[in-house]
Amino acid sequence: MNLEERNKKALELHKQWQGKISTEPKMTLQSRDDLANAYTPGVAAACMEIAHDTARVYDYTLKANTIAVVSDGSAVLGLGNIGPEAAMPVMEGKAALFKAFGGVNAFPICLDTQDVDEIVHTVELLAPTFGGVNLEDISAPRCFEIEQKLKERLNIPVFHDDQHGTAVVVLCGIINALRITKKQAAACRVVINGAGAAGVAIAKLLVQFGISDVIVCDSRGIVSSKSARLTPIKQQLLTYTNKEDKQGSLSDALVGADIFIGVSVAGALSADMVKSMNSDAIIFAIANPVPEIYPDEALAAGARIAATGRSDFPNQINNVIAFPGIFKGALEAHVARITDEMLLKAAHALANLVSDQELCETFIMPDPFDKRCAEAVAQAVKECAIA
Ligand code: NAP
Ligand code: MG
Repeated sequence: MNLEERNKKALELHKQWQGKISTEPKMTLQSRDDLANAYTPGVAAACMEIAHDTARVYDYTLKANTIAVVSDGSAVLGLGNIGPEAAMPVMEGKAALFKAFGGVNAFPICLDTQDVDEIVHTVELLAPTFGGVNLEDISAPRCFEIEQKLKERLNIPVFHDDQHGTAVVVLCGIINALRITKKQAAACRVVINGAGAAGVAIAKLLVQFGISDVIVCDSRGIVSSKSARLTPIKQQLLTYTNKEDKQGSLSDALVGADIFIGVSVAGALSADMVKSMNSDAIIFAIANPVPEIYPDEALAAGARIAATGRSDFPNQINNVIAFPGIFKGALEAHVARITDEMLLKAAHALANLVSDQELCETFIMPDPFDKRCAEAVAQAVKECAIA
């Protein structure tokens, strides 16, 4: 199906669905007795238990297994700042994926503000209803501040999938790519192109994983102490990347590098840049929908392994293998925070789903429909929670 046909079909289906999720009662409501249990007077017993001890809300309500998918419509997919109403089909879709892949109830919340403090305050006010908050498609650098403030103020897990879900899935792919090239993580040089939501989170997780030589580039080239307009988040990035404070362009950064991770824009990586990299180069070009370089071009230029964000090429970096399991585990273990250690363990768990027999240059990621993904990720999160 070409893109035009796909769009036509999807639009028809959206009209037919009028929303991708619905709420439904879990009990029958067919007798006075049913009503008296689910609603008044019986419901008062549950209310009073919670009134005496707020923590019991997890025993008696949907808070135990329901999250909010919160967006302000400012960075929706590859569509940009299209506003809260236009973001709804994506947030509904995300909610549907949470349920289908992780058994997690999720509700779309699209907010009519792009002000950091208004968003933070609104989510704080909504928090009693939800067991967790998945921030979605909120543009950088506001997304960093919103996440940070919410983590400080809420006692339920807050997770920005565009940052941390992406980082987990990228790390899963890197772990398996290194299994193939047999290079040691500690000896690898990684260049990340893009210092936005995804790039910053990937850099942080790769360093925690044990890759110490990481250089990040933004639209002006290598992020260094001499970069113009260093935002606070890029300054912070410099405390654990670009240790030698290199300056220059993406091409300069890539000479002799082992791994390229593109979370920037279409066509940012040339064949010549790939040729300048170390042997057995690993190229993750995941700008959507058009990657920094197409896999065939990267491989022809000498790369050993190529991955994109697209489903029509091998090695798709698809967040759906991570986010449902992360919240499934976080809710089941009732954690207040999703820690970096949980993300690392989740990436390892996903990577391990690809057996030695299956692992090859065109199969480094578990299949998105592999039912084991959510369970493996949830288990990893729960193990950290117990430890
Ligand atoms: P973002 O927050 O807007 O960040 C984009 C970053 O790219 C910014 O740091 C920007 O630089 C940089 N950039 C723009 N043009 C560039 C250029 N020519 N060379 C180098 N860097 C350039 O976006 P994001 O959420 O991180 O996402 C980035 C891309 O990755 C998008 O295409 C997104 O679809 C894709 N992505 C894919 C997946 C997936 O497939 N699983 C997951 C997440 C993201 P400045 O800071 O200088 O403006
Ligand atoms: Mg997103």
